[in-house]
Formats: sequence, structure tokens, C-alpha cells
Amino acid sequence: MRIEVDTAVIGGGVSGLCAAHYLAQSLGRDAVILLEASDCPGGTTRTSAEDGYLLDWGPNGFLNREPKTLQWAEDLGISNKLVTANDAAARRFILKGGRLMEIHPPPRFLATPLLSVLGRVRLCCEPLIRQKANDDPETIWDFAARRIGREAADMMVGPMVSGVFGGDAHQLSLAHCFPRMAAMEREYGSLFKALIAKKRENSAASPVGPSGVLTTFQEGIGFLPMHAASQLGDRVRTNASAVSIKHTNGGFKVQMKDGGEVAARCVVMAAPAFAAVGLLSGMDDALAAALDRIAYAGIAVVCTTYSREAVGHDMNGFGYLVPRNQGKRALGCLWTSSIFPHQAPKDKVLLRSMIGGFTDPDALRLSDSELLDIVAREVHPLLSVSGEPELVRIFRHDRGIPQYLRHHGECLDAVEAAEKRWPGLVFAGNAYRGVGLNDCVLSAHRAADALLK
Ligand SMILES: Cc1cc2nc3c(=O)[nH]c(=O)nc-3n(C[C@H](O)[C@H](O)[C@H](O)COP(=O)(O)OP(=O)(O)OC[C@H]3O[C@@H](n4cnc5c(N)ncnc54)[C@H](O)[C@@H]3O)c2cc1C
Repeated sequence: MRIEVDTAVIGGGVSGLCAAHYLAQSLGRDAVILLEASDCPGGTTRTSAEDGYLLDWGPNGFLNREPKTLQWAEDLGISNKLVTANDAAARRFILKGGRLMEIHPPPRFLATPLLSVLGRVRLCCEPLIRQKANDDPETIWDFAARRIGREAADMMVGPMVSGVFGGDAHQLSLAHCFPRMAAMEREYGSLFKALIAKKRENSAASPVGPSGVLTTFQEGIGFLPMHAASQLGDRVRTNASAVSIKHTNGGFKVQMKDGGEVAARCVVMAAPAFAAVGLLSGMDDALAAALDRIAYAGIAVVCTTYSREAVGHDMNGFGYLVPRNQGKRALGCLWTSSIFPHQAPKDKVLLRSMIGGFTDPDALRLSDSELLDIVAREVHPLLSVSGEPELVRIFRHDRGIPQYLRHHGECLDAVEAAEKRWPGLVFAGNAYRGVGLNDCVLSAHRAADALLK
């Protein structure tokens, strides 16, 4: 079958759906088609409902600090379904020496046994540390060790990096993963000074957690892409895998796996970078080679549920993260029924344990029972769980989260150069300028705005 359309969006995750939504709004619904390889829209953002639980496959929400995400919910007519995290979820923990230690905001933080006395003294020296003198790409760990000391880099920053990216702080680029942190040093000369200044501007700003409140929907975060797709109706084609893109006189020709063809004046490439490699090689080998340098981390999300009496811990908090030097395989565990009580029946506990990440690629090849053994060995004792989980669901994301390594700037330069070389081709998605759902929404606006210009 041959389809002619103004704009084809390839990839029906949050990024592609958001771009398609705003393009359809401006150009008219029939001008846009979204091609999704799998049988369901959403990409990694999906939620299953089962036995009174809402089980998120990947993300569990977004931080409500990005106006464009909230606006999208508004434009979709679903902002009345937003649910923010429970207040109790403000408490976050880190595992050290077999114990969960709460992270407190300063000044209480300085009494935390998470760091040795020397580690705490070194942390306090942060305002005295000079700014970096050159522009060489720096890893997150190098930056953290330079500013707050090696111990705090290992015990506080490393876990945060595995929590957000499933990544290795020793390999990820600070400037691309946490551009705001790099900017704080540049603008204020010190992270502490920057935090004090930001606290003055906004008394709600938190130095121990991300700014903004984690937010989902009454039906779980998967409701966002599902609802966006349903509004686009038959403009979303599932089981529609693109296999190649060629440049033509009038724009682009997208070859489909089923033999069909889509002729489009413009293309939004919102499939993961590793998928874009295959689609674009032939048309632009240099671009495909640059995209191929964007690495991915795999991650398994192990959802387990229990009756409340089977869990001895008070479960008052968000969950915990595990520094890589603690000899554990689980990256951390989210206490979902505490964060979003509506995602589990009243007298039940729902946990989501994260296993894998960039430093443990073999974890994605573990069987269900091997993953459950890790949960039983590492998570259950910490939360005083007795007995077996009542319900188990495991979601594996083989190449789930892109990793912005030190050469990421070169990949971005190549993508931007290709966008200039091929007018009408634009990129959106988590592979480029941020992995959070808010970043994906911003990437979609960037792509749609570029085409609408
Ligand atoms: C376990 C996990 C937990 C996370 N937690 C959070 C969180 O709590 N908060 C947060 O903000 N972010 C979180 N993230 C990150 C966030 O979920 C992702 O960055 C975001 O969902 C990516 O959206 P996307 O549309 O860019 O890509 P994807 O969701 O990967 O979508 C890309 C789509 O392209 C399709 N596709 C691939 N190849 C083709 C092809 N050839 N033709 C057509 N279609 C194709 C795929 O099937 C897929 O549907 C998490 C991610 C994971 C994996």
C-alpha cells in the first residue's frame, strides 16, 4: 500500500506521539501519520491494570516542573486525571552496609552516617573548590569527585545516576546528562552557593531530591500515550515497522516492513537511535555511524506485590537506591504503593525493583526466577518481607535508556548537521537531549516547531 502524507512520524513512544499531536493540531489530522513498529503505542511508557494494581512497565511518572508536559495533558483534556506523589514519598533512602539510610536536607544531612566524618568534611569544602579551568568533557563522577569528594560521588551521585539513567557515573557526560548542574558551577562557582540562591528564589526547591513533584495519572503513566494515540485515531498505525528512508524530489520515501511505502514531505525520526541507524544507512552513512555511537542500557523492572502484613517495614518513603560499591545487583527499589497509593489495593504493597543497567548488561539475560531470586535475596531482607510475592510481573527493556557518553556532543553535532543537510528530516526522542518524559516532550516540540517553521 502507498500512502502520501505531509509528515510521517516514525516511532510511537511519548516523543513521537507528542510531536504527532502538535503537528496534527497545526497541519490538520490527515496531514500526519505515525508509524509504530509494535502492536501498541507508548514505547517504554505503558501501564497494565491487573488485580487492582496499576503496573508501570518503565517510567512511573514525570516531574511537574515542565509547563509543556502539563500543557500537553491540558490539550489532551486529561489534566483532571493527574495525580501527584504522596507526601511520604519525599523520604528517600540509600543502602549502605546493609542498612537503609535516609537522605536529609542540610544541615541535618551533615549528621548522616551515609558518609564518614572525613567524607562530610570534604563535602563541606565544596564552596572552596575552584571551577574547572577548561572545557574538556567531564564525566559525572569526575565532576562530583572534584566538587564534593570521591566518597560523596560514590555514595550519593552514583546511585542517582543509576536511578535516572541506569547508567555508570564514571562514563556519562555531565554536560549532557545534567546540564543544569554544569551550569550551576559555571554561574555560581559552587553547587552550594547555587542551591542557596535557588532556595531563595523558590523555597520549595529541594537539595536532596529533584525539583518538582512526581506526577502520574489515575490510570497510570501509560494513560498519557494511550490517550494521545486514541485522539490521533487512524493516523496512528501499529504493527507498522519502517525499514528504510530514502530522499526523493518531493521529500522522503519510507519503506515499510510489510512492503508498503509512505511518501512524506517531512519525517520526524522518533524511534530509538539504534533503530534509526538501520533506517538511515544508505541515505546518510555518516549520520547512521554517529547514531550508532549512542549506547543503551538494558533494565529489568520486577514488579512484586504483598499483603501489608507480610512487609515489616513502615514503607514510609519513595524507595531506595544502591551505590555500585555495595556488592548488590538490584539498582534500587521503588515503593510504588507508597508513592502512588492508588496504584495498589488498600491493604497491599507494590514494589518495583530495578535490575541491570549499563554496568550489568548480563542481567537482561536472567530468567524470571533468577531475577526473583535477586529480589528475595537483596530486597526482602531490607523491608522485612516474609513469604513469597503474591503477584509477579517482569518488564524487560533490552535497550531501554540511552547513555550520553563523553562523546555525546559529537553525536548531537552530527544529528544537527544532518537536519540541515536534509531539510524536512528532524529528530525527537530520548536519545539526544534528556531521557526524562519532560525531555521527550521538549524534544517533540523542538521537532514540530522546526518543521512548522
Ligand atoms: C525502566 C525505565 C524507567 C524509567 N523511569 C522514568 C521515570 O520515572 N520518569 C521519566 O521521566 N522517565 C523515565 N524513563 C525514561 C522515559 O521513559 C523514556 O525516556 C521515554 O519513555 C522515551 O520515549 P521515546 O518516545 O523517546 O522512546 P520509546 O519509548 O523508546 O519509543 C520509541 C518507539 O519507536 C518504536 N520503533 C522502533 N523502531 C521502529 C521502526 N523501525 N518503525 C516504527 N517504530 C519503531 C518503538 O517500538 C517504540 O514504541 C524510564 C525509562 C525506563 C526504561
